Amino acid sequence: MTAADLVLAHSVTIPDFPKPGILFRDLTPVFSHADAFRAVIDEFAEHFAGQFDAVAGVEARGFLLSSALAYATNTPLIAVRKAGKLPGEVIREDYQLEYGTASLELRPGQLPEGSRVLILDDVLATGGSCHASGRLIERAGYVVAGFGLVLELADMTGRERLAGYPLHAIMSE
Ligand code: IMP
Repeated sequence: MTAADLVLAHSVTIPDFPKPGILFRDLTPVFSHADAFRAVIDEFAEHFAGQFDAVAGVEARGFLLSSALAYATNTPLIAVRKAGKLPGEVIREDYQLEYGTASLELRPGQLPEGSRVLILDDVLATGGSCHASGRLIERAGYVVAGFGLVLELADMTGRERLAGYPLHAIMSE
C-alpha cells in the first residue's frame, strides 16, 4: 500500500467538530498505526531528499511529524509554537484560521542564516498556519524549502496561498 492508501484507510471524518457545520478530518489513527506513520515519514524524506537542512513542525501535530523526520534524516528540528509558549526573544505572526484567529511564534537564531527549512503539518485547509509559519521562517533569516502535509483539503484555498513554494501533500481530498 502507498502512504496515500494508508492515510485514506486510517483517517476519519468527524461531523460538527469543533463547531457545528465543520467536517473535521481526524488523522490520529495515522499516528497510531506504525505502518501508516512510517510510510508518511518515508515519503516526506524521499520527496524532499537533498532539499532541506532543517525541519520545522507547526504545533501540535506538526511536532509529531517533524520530530520523526528530523530523526530519520539526522537534521535539526525547530518548533513553530502557538503564542505565549516560548520564553525569551520570539517573532510572531497573527493570521486567520478556518475557525477564528490565531498566532504562531518562533525563536530566531537557532539555525545558521540561509538554512533551508522544510515545514510540516498534518492538514492544509486555508493555508493560514503554513503561510504564517513560512513568514516566521523567512523573518528569522532562513529559506522555506517547502511544505509537507499529510492531507490537503483541496476545496480550500491553501495551495493558492502558498503558491511559489514547493508543496507536497501525501493525499488530497
Ligand atoms: P489552515 O491554517 O486553515 O490551513 O488550517 C490548518 C491547521 O488547522 C493545521 O494546523 C491543522 O492541524 C488544523 N486543521 C484545520 N482543519 C483541520 C481538520 O479538518 N482536521 C485536523 N486539523 C485541522
